[in-house]
Amino acid sequence: MKVPMLDLTEQYQELREQMLQTLDEVMGSAHFILGDNVKKLESDIATYSNASHAIGCGNGSDAIHIALQAAGVGEGDEVITTPFTFFATGGAIVRVGATPVYVDIDPVTFNIDPAKVEEAVTEKTKAIIPVHLYGQMADMDGLVAVAKKHNLFIIEDGAQAIGAKYKGKTVGELGTAGTYSFFPTKNLGAYGDAGMIVTSNDEIAENCRVIRVHGSKPKYYHHVLGYNSRLDELQAAILNVKFPHLNKWSELRREKAANYTRLLNEALPNEVVTPVEVEGNYHVFHQYTIRVEKRDELQKYLKEQGVETMIYYPLALHLQPVFKNLGYKEGDFPEAEKAAKEALSLPMFPELALEQQEYVVSKIVEFFKK
Ligand SMILES: *Cc1c(COP(=O)(O)O)cnc(C)c1O
Repeated sequence: MKVPMLDLTEQYQELREQMLQTLDEVMGSAHFILGDNVKKLESDIATYSNASHAIGCGNGSDAIHIALQAAGVGEGDEVITTPFTFFATGGAIVRVGATPVYVDIDPVTFNIDPAKVEEAVTEKTKAIIPVHLYGQMADMDGLVAVAKKHNLFIIEDGAQAIGAKYKGKTVGELGTAGTYSFFPTKNLGAYGDAGMIVTSNDEIAENCRVIRVHGSKPKYYHHVLGYNSRLDELQAAILNVKFPHLNKWSELRREKAANYTRLLNEALPNEVVTPVEVEGNYHVFHQYTIRVEKRDELQKYLKEQGVETMIYYPLALHLQPVFKNLGYKEGDFPEAEKAAKEALSLPMFPELALEQQEYVVSKIVEFFKK
């Protein structure tokens, strides 16, 4: 048996007729940039996120960058974030001219630890970027308390967490703004790049709209330096077809996650640490990520057995060569560094079959019983 990390082909077959029709409509309309499909998607995602505004943009990395710039974060400012995330989170901070300040994670959730955030605040701190990693939201109560006390923005990187909830609140609802990525592999994926910012702050929303079109307002008059980061009509039309299925897909992901957890805890209660859904959270399992000691050997064994797995992420951001000038070193964030050595994400997508999951787990068992 072969089990891929992600297989989008079954989903496409289900949606194919609707997709072809909607793409034909867009191409026939000859309106390709920031049109009615983008407006509809922005309106639906705003409602879904309980936000007054949603602003489509080129991708999830730009969404973070634009939100930071729109909040006025730039040269001389510090932004606190997690070192255990995709590169884009740290990259966006540097691209607006600010300095990333990393703090360690909670080993149970892999998310930023609010207690450590508090310790890292200086008079230069302007914002916090929590990342809702793998589909589970960070400890927002803890973060909001620190942000209120020190008057900081919170830009929530929700690239992996669309539909997730924390005590009934979703991405961007408790923070200043939230950002989404619609990269094809994300829980709501386009057929190319796309991203979005959600916020209920009118001024930040307006700034985002201006920044995504080169700071143009009115057209061809530029008071701020923006860039070209627009969501195109074809991608928006694709996302409009998929969006009504998102909640169902999240439920299916949760079902798959429960299957893995049951099978793994029965067979290997001591060898494998399964993911924890913290009370009050609705985890949407963008990834199902276990922790194991001998992680690299296990991954190699599974690959030989036809099971694809991924390591998100093998090197924490504070140790990335490009951030060398920040002066961090190995040992600074032991939990993030440990997670980078132990985390292994198993195949996860809504159409994953139980037989595939049973095969994956049987091969993990085989590895440990060898
Ligand atoms: C995917 C991702 C991004 C970037 O999104 P793109 O659309 O690929 O630019 C940012 N942060 C996290 C945590 C992600 O997983």
